[in-house]
Amino acid sequence: MNCIWCNIKTSSSKSDKGKREYANNEHIFPAHLYKNSELKRPSLFLKQGKVCEACNNRLGHIDKSLKYRDNMMLKKFQDANQIFNEPPGRKGKKRDRKRKLEESTEIRHHNNSTVVKREGSSTSFINPTFFKYDEKFSKAIHKCAVNVLYNELEYDYMKSHFSKLIEFVNSSENNFSEWSFAVCFSNPNSNSYFEPACFQKIIINDVIVALALLLPSAIYLVGTKPNLINVDFLKNNASGFRDFIDWDDENFKLSECFLESPYFAKKSFKTFGEKVKYSLIKKEIKGKPNPKDSFYLLVKCKTCGQTNPTGVMLPKKSALDKINGLSSGNKNSWNFHSKEDLDILCPNVKFSESFVKDFELKYGINYTPENDVKKMNISNCKAQCINCNDLIIYEAKDCFL
Ligand SMILES: [Zn+2]
Ligand SMILES: [Zn+2]
Repeated sequence: MNCIWCNIKTSSSKSDKGKREYANNEHIFPAHLYKNSELKRPSLFLKQGKVCEACNNRLGHIDKSLKYRDNMMLKKFQDANQIFNEPPGRKGKKRDRKRKLEESTEIRHHNNSTVVKREGSSTSFINPTFFKYDEKFSKAIHKCAVNVLYNELEYDYMKSHFSKLIEFVNSSENNFSEWSFAVCFSNPNSNSYFEPACFQKIIINDVIVALALLLPSAIYLVGTKPNLINVDFLKNNASGFRDFIDWDDENFKLSECFLESPYFAKKSFKTFGEKVKYSLIKKEIKGKPNPKDSFYLLVKCKTCGQTNPTGVMLPKKSALDKINGLSSGNKNSWNFHSKEDLDILCPNVKFSESFVKDFELKYGINYTPENDVKKMNISNCKAQCINCNDLIIYEAKDCFL
């Protein structure tokens, strides 16, 4: 057998332990997604020899992102605390035990600002942000897809059909914008625990083009080829999930756990399909900085979250001249202040050079109530998203600077 990541011919013989070609066992989905007591079940592993130990270790950091770079997953870990973080036993390493103890009351997102807290039996978010494309999380979810495929398929078939997918996970140089995915979050108020699994494969012309992966936090629709998961794909393929309903049994309605998550679906995103509400997660295209004398009027795409220019430019004079002093608004990659703005905002004050630099790069744009773009005379306007090409219909309250 060959390692799917480094292609080396592997050996599973104990006597080769320590050698470069030695291959131990690799979980199909990362081990931290299973109950501790279930971890050793043979069906959870790839056939020994399919991933060498060196690659297993080398790519281990990607698996970790599934937990620490997704807010809903953190929530599930905290909700199902007893399942995931079983009481720190004597067996674990000291450092692991310490971490688990800390995480039993507070799990922190990789970005350091979002926390999921537990008080008694209730858990809550602090500073959550959703629907963001995280590069490492994207790799982690695509790595699960490679494992699911390699669990059933032979090495040669994998290399001839899914080499781009394998390369995306394996390589450090990536074009992340080609690897979008779709998500349908589970109900945040449901405490149900799902064992990770692939519950559906979308097959076109005899090739598996996408997998629906069920994780404790959400269903992820992951493509096996670049540039595949987009608005049209979702519209055409994500509506009829018959297999999804087949997972239900009398005591447990899996479908309800996902159908009942209107909070996420309604909030800002378009929904796809009748049964499962997917949102497209696509890496955001960076903005073009504004001209010195005006700001872009911006609007967010409800399908992919991309910040889009509406085509309207607002002269800085009218946006800035009534503001008393400085306070920072939300930052985006389109509108920047220039140092001339400081003279309008704070006449007669001399700022240090380093402050001026900071102001130009890091200060978001603020407006006074009289200049509020949300009160402009804009309704039923249309634009096409620069990222996912979906139609954006917006009015003044959707706009910002
Ligand atoms: Zn390897
Ligand atoms: Zn879009």
